[in-house]
Amino acid sequence: MAYLANPARTKEVINKYHLSAQKKFGQNFLIDSNVLDSIVDAAAITKNDCVLEIGPGIGTLTQYLAEAAGRVLAVEIDRKLIPVLEDTLSEYDNVTVISGDILDQDIKALADKYNEGRPLKIAANLPYYITTPIVMKLLESGVPIDSITVMVQKEVADRMQEREGSREYGALSVAVQYYAEPEVICIAPPSSFIPQPGVDSTVIKLTPYSTKPVVARDEALFFAIVKACFSQRRKTMVNSLSNAQDLGISKELAGEGLEAIGRSRTERGEKLSVKEFAALADYFSCALEQRKP
Ligand code: SAM
Repeated sequence: MAYLANPARTKEVINKYHLSAQKKFGQNFLIDSNVLDSIVDAAAITKNDCVLEIGPGIGTLTQYLAEAAGRVLAVEIDRKLIPVLEDTLSEYDNVTVISGDILDQDIKALADKYNEGRPLKIAANLPYYITTPIVMKLLESGVPIDSITVMVQKEVADRMQEREGSREYGALSVAVQYYAEPEVICIAPPSSFIPQPGVDSTVIKLTPYSTKPVVARDEALFFAIVKACFSQRRKTMVNSLSNAQDLGISKELAGEGLEAIGRSRTERGEKLSVKEFAALADYFSCALEQRKP
């Protein structure tokens, strides 16, 4: 099977299988071989690697991954694409296609079954409608991951790298930077895809820290606090935190916590660094523990 990464081959497969790109699944198929090479090179994939691909589509990136990697696991939600993948990937005996939703997969079990529990590399042209839940699942899962090299909407890649004080800084920026070092690999214009998305795209590589620079003592509380603080950006943190009832943080305690980390009671979440969020979460964690009956 010839490479799919060009407009003519992609259209041929689409016509052969009477496919129409499903918007509900975020289907934009890559046709740009330079971008595909950049993904494989940036992920530094070798025959020792087991790569998890999210959303193989018609198999365009999968072909590149299969040539570079020892094994590729490709999880595709669209059942109509499974017979297509059997055809386009028929020459590769190191690809396992899994029919299902990536959000339902036990990634640790996949690493255990296919890679003896060793770290996976993640590579994908992600479906843009669920980029954040997928990236959060990968980062929060505690699964051994070597690197995550993914195509995302440019604006989302920007958000992943924003620092405190910027308007785009939010819960995704904090989560990504808590777990990993983000690095932009390349920008892909809409013409790199069929059909063309209405936005520019970016390949970004997230390399999880071997030792995290900042560690919150209660990570669940840390992320609950971060989410609460960015859920209503215009509100002060004191109001956002006390409104999030499941946190059990009163206005008084929220204000005390902010002052304890050297911030004012009128501060907004976008001003706090990852380190300050962790310090605040640690303060609340101790205070809530002490107040337990
Ligand atoms: N990898 C292909 C390429 O680069 O040409 C297709 C990328 S397309 C942007 C996203 C792919 O993810 C589609 O094949 C879509 O069906 C699949 N997808 C969407 N949601 C998914 C989910 N929750 N789990 C697994 N695959 C999903």
